[in-house]
Amino acid sequence: MAIQWRGPVPASNHAVGRGGSSVELIVDHWTVVMFEGAIRRFMDPASILSAHYVIGSDGRIAQLVSEDDTAYHAGVFSVNQRSIGIEHEAGPAMPPSDALYAASARLHADIASRYGLALEVGTTVLPHHAIVPTECPGTLDLDRIVREALEEDDMFTEEDRRKLNRVYDHLEAYEPLVWTTRLQRWLAKAFGGGLPNADLSGPDVETGQPFDAKTASRR
Ligand SMILES: [Zn+2]
Repeated sequence: MAIQWRGPVPASNHAVGRGGSSVELIVDHWTVVMFEGAIRRFMDPASILSAHYVIGSDGRIAQLVSEDDTAYHAGVFSVNQRSIGIEHEAGPAMPPSDALYAASARLHADIASRYGLALEVGTTVLPHHAIVPTECPGTLDLDRIVREALEEDDMFTEEDRRKLNRVYDHLEAYEPLVWTTRLQRWLAKAFGGGLPNADLSGPDVETGQPFDAKTASRR
Protein backbone atom coordinates (compact mmCIF):
# COMPACT_ATOMS: atom_id res chain seq x y z
CA MET A 1 0.00 0.00 0.00
CA ALA A 2 1.55 3.31 -1.11
CA ILE A 3 1.39 5.88 1.67
CA GLN A 4 2.98 9.28 1.26
CA TRP A 5 4.55 10.79 4.39
CA ARG A 6 3.46 14.44 4.63
CA GLY A 7 4.28 15.04 8.29
CA PRO A 8 5.27 15.74 10.86
CA VAL A 9 2.55 18.16 11.91
CA PRO A 10 3.61 21.03 14.22
CA ALA A 11 4.26 20.22 17.89
CA SER A 12 1.06 22.04 18.87
CA ASN A 13 -1.05 19.63 16.77
CA HIS A 14 0.02 16.29 18.21
CA ALA A 15 1.56 14.65 21.27
CA VAL A 16 4.65 12.48 21.16
CA GLY A 17 3.79 8.96 22.32
CA ARG A 18 0.42 7.71 23.53
CA GLY A 19 0.82 8.15 27.28
CA GLY A 20 1.10 4.41 27.77
CA SER A 21 -2.06 3.59 25.80
CA SER A 22 -2.07 1.29 22.80
CA VAL A 23 -4.10 1.46 19.59
CA GLU A 24 -7.54 -0.04 20.25
CA LEU A 25 -9.73 1.64 17.67
CA ILE A 26 -10.01 3.66 14.50
CA VAL A 27 -11.97 6.93 14.37
CA ASP A 28 -13.23 7.90 10.92
CA HIS A 29 -13.77 11.47 9.73
CA TRP A 30 -14.60 13.37 6.58
CA THR A 31 -12.63 16.46 5.60
CA VAL A 32 -15.46 18.54 4.05
CA VAL A 33 -12.61 20.51 2.41
CA MET A 34 -10.35 19.21 -0.38
CA PHE A 35 -7.40 16.87 0.27
CA GLU A 36 -4.67 19.56 0.22
CA GLY A 37 -6.85 21.93 2.23
CA ALA A 38 -7.18 19.31 4.96
CA ILE A 39 -3.42 18.80 5.04
CA ARG A 40 -2.83 22.57 5.19
CA ARG A 41 -5.18 22.79 8.19
CA PHE A 42 -3.25 20.07 10.03
CA MET A 43 0.08 21.77 9.22
CA ASP A 44 -1.20 25.07 10.65
CA PRO A 45 0.12 25.33 14.25
CA ALA A 46 -2.95 27.36 15.25
CA SER A 47 -5.47 24.64 14.31
CA ILE A 48 -4.52 22.28 17.19
CA LEU A 49 -5.84 19.54 14.89
CA SER A 50 -4.37 16.56 13.10
CA ALA A 51 -5.08 13.04 11.91
CA HIS A 52 -2.78 10.12 11.31
CA TYR A 53 -4.02 9.68 7.75
CA VAL A 54 -5.81 11.65 5.05
CA ILE A 55 -7.30 9.65 2.17
CA GLY A 56 -8.06 11.39 -1.14
CA SER A 57 -11.15 10.83 -3.27
CA ASP A 58 -8.74 9.41 -5.89
CA GLY A 59 -7.52 6.80 -3.38
CA ARG A 60 -4.17 8.35 -2.46
CA ILE A 61 -3.17 8.13 1.20
CA ALA A 62 -1.07 10.68 3.11
CA GLN A 63 0.28 10.16 6.62
CA LEU A 64 0.91 13.17 8.86
CA VAL A 65 1.38 11.68 12.34
CA SER A 66 3.26 8.52 13.34
CA GLU A 67 0.99 5.77 14.64
CA ASP A 68 3.20 5.78 17.75
CA ASP A 69 2.08 9.35 18.49
CA THR A 70 -1.24 10.93 19.50
CA ALA A 71 -3.10 12.87 16.80
CA TYR A 72 -5.75 15.49 17.71
CA HIS A 73 -8.84 14.38 15.82
CA ALA A 74 -11.50 12.88 18.11
CA GLY A 75 -12.02 15.87 20.40
CA VAL A 76 -11.30 13.81 23.54
CA PHE A 77 -7.65 13.42 24.48
CA SER A 78 -8.01 9.98 26.08
CA VAL A 79 -9.72 8.70 22.91
CA ASN A 80 -6.97 10.23 20.77
CA GLN A 81 -4.40 8.37 22.86
CA ARG A 82 -5.87 4.97 21.99
CA SER A 83 -7.04 5.57 18.44
CA ILE A 84 -5.86 6.11 14.90
CA GLY A 85 -7.63 9.00 13.15
CA ILE A 86 -8.43 8.68 9.46
CA GLU A 87 -9.72 11.63 7.43
CA HIS A 88 -11.61 10.97 4.18
CA GLU A 89 -11.80 13.55 1.40
CA ALA A 90 -15.57 13.89 1.27
CA GLY A 91 -18.29 16.28 2.37
CA PRO A 92 -21.88 17.35 1.75
CA ALA A 93 -20.95 18.61 -1.73
CA MET A 94 -18.40 15.82 -2.33
CA PRO A 95 -19.89 12.31 -1.94
CA PRO A 96 -17.40 9.60 -0.90
CA SER A 97 -15.97 7.93 -4.04
CA ASP A 98 -15.43 4.23 -4.78
CA ALA A 99 -11.66 4.84 -4.86
CA LEU A 100 -11.88 6.48 -1.43
CA TYR A 101 -13.73 3.48 0.00
CA ALA A 102 -11.28 1.02 -1.58
CA ALA A 103 -8.23 2.83 -0.18
CA SER A 104 -9.86 3.23 3.23
CA ALA A 105 -10.73 -0.47 3.31
CA ARG A 106 -7.11 -1.39 2.56
CA LEU A 107 -5.84 0.97 5.28
CA HIS A 108 -8.37 -0.33 7.85
CA ALA A 109 -7.41 -3.94 7.00
CA ASP A 110 -3.72 -3.10 7.33
CA ILE A 111 -4.15 -1.38 10.71
CA ALA A 112 -6.38 -4.20 11.96
CA SER A 113 -3.83 -6.85 11.08
CA ARG A 114 -0.93 -4.93 12.64
CA TYR A 115 -2.72 -4.30 15.96
CA GLY A 116 -4.77 -7.49 16.06
CA LEU A 117 -8.08 -5.59 15.95
CA ALA A 118 -11.31 -7.30 14.88
CA LEU A 119 -12.89 -4.63 12.68
CA GLU A 120 -16.41 -3.88 13.85
CA VAL A 121 -18.37 -0.64 13.55
CA GLY A 122 -19.37 0.55 17.02
CA THR A 123 -16.47 -1.05 18.87
CA THR A 124 -13.15 -0.92 17.01
CA VAL A 125 -14.32 1.41 14.23
CA LEU A 126 -16.16 4.57 15.30
CA PRO A 127 -17.57 7.57 13.49
CA HIS A 128 -16.38 10.87 14.97
CA HIS A 129 -19.95 11.65 16.10
CA ALA A 130 -19.89 8.62 18.41
CA ILE A 131 -17.35 10.50 20.54
CA VAL A 132 -18.48 14.14 20.46
CA PRO A 133 -21.53 15.89 18.96
CA THR A 134 -20.56 16.65 15.35
CA GLU A 135 -21.83 16.08 11.81
CA CYS A 136 -18.56 14.27 11.03
CA PRO A 137 -18.24 11.90 9.14
CA GLY A 138 -21.57 12.66 7.44
CA THR A 139 -22.58 10.17 4.77
CA LEU A 140 -19.32 8.20 4.94
CA ASP A 141 -20.48 4.56 5.15
CA LEU A 142 -18.38 2.85 7.84
CA ASP A 143 -20.19 -0.45 7.33
CA ARG A 144 -19.03 -0.44 3.71
CA ILE A 145 -15.44 0.31 4.73
CA VAL A 146 -15.41 -2.59 7.19
CA ARG A 147 -17.16 -4.93 4.73
CA GLU A 148 -14.60 -4.14 2.01
CA ALA A 149 -11.75 -4.40 4.53
CA LEU A 150 -12.85 -7.89 5.55
CA GLU A 151 -13.09 -8.85 1.88
CA GLU A 152 -9.41 -7.95 1.51
CA ASP A 153 -8.77 -11.29 3.17
CA ASP A 154 -10.18 -13.27 0.26
CA MET A 155 -8.24 -11.33 -2.37
CA PHE A 156 -11.17 -10.17 -4.52
CA THR A 157 -12.42 -6.59 -4.46
CA GLU A 158 -16.06 -5.65 -5.06
CA GLU A 159 -15.00 -4.45 -8.50
CA ASP A 160 -13.48 -7.88 -9.29
CA ARG A 161 -16.75 -9.50 -8.26
CA ARG A 162 -18.78 -7.13 -10.44
CA LYS A 163 -16.58 -7.96 -13.42
CA LEU A 164 -16.74 -11.69 -12.80
CA ASN A 165 -20.51 -11.51 -12.40
CA ARG A 166 -20.69 -9.82 -15.79
CA VAL A 167 -18.70 -12.73 -17.25
CA TYR A 168 -21.26 -15.15 -15.83
CA ASP A 169 -24.20 -13.08 -17.07
CA HIS A 170 -22.64 -13.05 -20.51
CA LEU A 171 -22.15 -16.81 -20.48
CA GLU A 172 -25.75 -17.35 -19.46
CA ALA A 173 -26.97 -15.25 -22.39
CA TYR A 174 -25.11 -17.52 -24.82
CA GLU A 175 -26.36 -20.82 -23.46
CA PRO A 176 -26.51 -23.46 -24.66
CA LEU A 177 -22.96 -23.41 -25.93
CA VAL A 178 -20.57 -26.14 -25.03
CA TRP A 179 -17.83 -23.78 -23.92
CA THR A 180 -20.18 -22.37 -21.29
CA THR A 181 -19.82 -25.49 -19.22
CA ARG A 182 -16.11 -25.66 -19.87
CA LEU A 183 -15.65 -22.05 -18.76
CA GLN A 184 -17.93 -22.42 -15.76
CA ARG A 185 -15.96 -25.45 -14.70
CA TRP A 186 -12.68 -23.68 -15.25
CA LEU A 187 -13.81 -20.60 -13.29
CA ALA A 188 -15.21 -22.73 -10.48
CA LYS A 189 -11.90 -24.56 -10.29
CA ALA A 190 -9.86 -21.36 -10.49
CA PHE A 191 -11.87 -19.39 -7.96
CA GLY A 192 -13.34 -22.11 -5.76
CA GLY A 193 -15.73 -20.64 -3.22
CA GLY A 194 -14.56 -17.08 -3.85
CA LEU A 195 -17.66 -15.99 -5.74
CA PRO A 196 -20.50 -15.82 -3.24
CA ASN A 197 -22.43 -13.39 -5.44
CA ALA A 198 -21.91 -15.19 -8.73
CA ASP A 199 -25.09 -16.30 -10.42
CA LEU A 200 -24.55 -19.92 -11.34
CA SER A 201 -28.19 -20.74 -11.91
CA GLY A 202 -29.36 -22.28 -15.16
CA PRO A 203 -28.87 -25.80 -16.43
CA ASP A 204 -25.51 -27.37 -17.02
CA VAL A 205 -25.50 -27.83 -20.80
CA GLU A 206 -23.93 -31.29 -20.54
CA THR A 207 -26.16 -32.83 -17.88
CA GLY A 208 -29.25 -30.62 -18.03
CA GLN A 209 -29.07 -30.40 -14.23
CA PRO A 210 -28.79 -27.11 -12.31
CA PHE A 211 -25.17 -26.02 -12.44
CA ASP A 212 -23.30 -26.66 -9.19
CA ALA A 213 -19.89 -24.99 -8.87
CA LYS A 214 -18.84 -27.32 -6.04
CA THR A 215 -19.58 -30.44 -8.06
CA ALA A 216 -18.03 -28.95 -11.18
CA SER A 217 -14.79 -28.13 -9.41
CA ARG A 218 -14.43 -31.77 -8.37
CA ARG A 219 -15.03 -33.24 -11.81
ZN1 LIG B 1 -14.21 14.37 12.44
